[in-house]
This record gives sequence, structure tokens and C-alpha cells, in this order.
Amino acid sequence: MTEKSWIDEKFSDIEYNLKTINEEIAEAAIKSGRKPEDIDFMAVTKTVDEMFINHALDCGINLIGENKVQEMLRKKPNLNLDGKKKNLIGHLQTNKASQIVGEVDMIESVDSLKVAKEIGKQSVKKDLITDILLEVNIGREESKTGFMPELVEENLCEIAEIPGIRVCGLMAIPPICNENTKLCEFFEKMYNMYVDIESKKIDNVYMNILSMGMSGDYVPAILCGSNHVRIGSKIFGPRIY
Ligand SMILES: *Cc1c(COP(=O)(O)O)cnc(C)c1O
Repeated sequence: MTEKSWIDEKFSDIEYNLKTINEEIAEAAIKSGRKPEDIDFMAVTKTVDEMFINHALDCGINLIGENKVQEMLRKKPNLNLDGKKKNLIGHLQTNKASQIVGEVDMIESVDSLKVAKEIGKQSVKKDLITDILLEVNIGREESKTGFMPELVEENLCEIAEIPGIRVCGLMAIPPICNENTKLCEFFEKMYNMYVDIESKKIDNVYMNILSMGMSGDYVPAILCGSNHVRIGSKIFGPRIY
């Protein structure tokens, strides 16, 4: 196959995948009593070449997510991001906060008080406010970062007071589950936590975004209340590292 035809084929795969996913998101939104446009559809672009990311943006994707600071900064100048949003979704090392603050629309992966304080400090320095989500380790997994569920509220209250930061919601990656019922228990726990915190009307805390659901589980995630799904391999194919 020539290089040209390989690229064309990949472009049409991306178009087909986006169409399918959009339909499934719309159906799940309606089933759960919401409108299709109530769900943010993020294209997760880690390891994906800029040419293909730009194609997804041309096809109507309005939000992308990268999980590494360096990769985001390297690709950003080559992307057609006019009017589109870009979020950081991977663990942020405190010493990289200065590089990413001001370069993304949201940091979804705030997993410690320490990193929140550094994001706040760098935001104040640059005279801006950084939107963040708190990452919750909903499955209490040692391999994952994020706040333990019982510590979310207390950390949230402290983080909400940090100047330069606006808390916009919660993010989670549940454990790999063989059964959908088990998976939905994690999603439901997240949804209940989200609603519960919202009802407390904590100053400077806006529970607008519940970020959960990836390629393998975005439909159940939406059915359980997610309004922000992060989808990579189902759009772009398996990642080649
Ligand atoms: C890679 C990644 C995703 C997307 O994963 P897929 O299974 O390819 O859809 C979502 N969220 C985070 C935080 C990721 O790092």
C-alpha cells in the first residue's frame, strides 16, 4: 500500500469511528434523560500523530486530551485548535506545573493537595485561573493516583480555597472489571459523590463535570451519569508506543 492510501484509509476510519461514537453517545444521553450535547466528547490524542488529530478536529471534535505535559506542548503548535479545547488528563508532576499552567483549558488529573497548590501558585504568577478536576481513586488501587474516596471532600474544601484555581468537577478511571454490574458500581459511586458534593454548595466549587468513560466503557459511564467521556483508541486505533 502506498503511503497516501494508508493515510486516506486511516482518515476514513477516524470519520467512521467518530460517527459511530457520536451516535452511541447520543443514544446513551437520551436513555439517561439528557441531551446528546450535554455530554462532552473528548478525543484522547496521546501517541497520535498531529495529522490524524487535525483530521478529528476537522470532523467536529471540540476537545482533546493529552496525558503528558511534554507531548502536549510539542504537538500544540501543529494543531488546528482555533475555538477548540485541550485538557491535561495524566498525572502532573509538581515541577512541571509551571510549564502547563496557561497552556491548557483544564487539568483533569489533580491528584494531590501538593500539585493543586503548585497549580494555584503558577496561575497567580501568570494572573489567571486554572480550571481543574479532582481525580478520585474510586477503586482504591495502589497502581493509580487520585484521592481516596473518603478523602475527596476534605481535600476539596482545602483546594477550593487556593487562589488561582477553580474546581469544576471530578474525574475517575475505574478498575478493569469483567462484569458490567461491578463497573457500574464504581461509576455510580462517583456519580453519588458528585451529586452529594454539588448539594453542599461549597464556595468556589462548581460540580459541572463528571469525567468518566473511555473507549471500552463510555456507554455504561454515561448511563451512570458521566457528562464527559475521554476516548482514544476507539477513534484512532490501538496506540503504538
Ligand atoms: C489514554 C487515556 C484515555 C483513553 O483511553 P482509551 O481506552 O484509548 O479510550 C482516557 N483517560 C485517560 C486518563 C487516559 O490516559
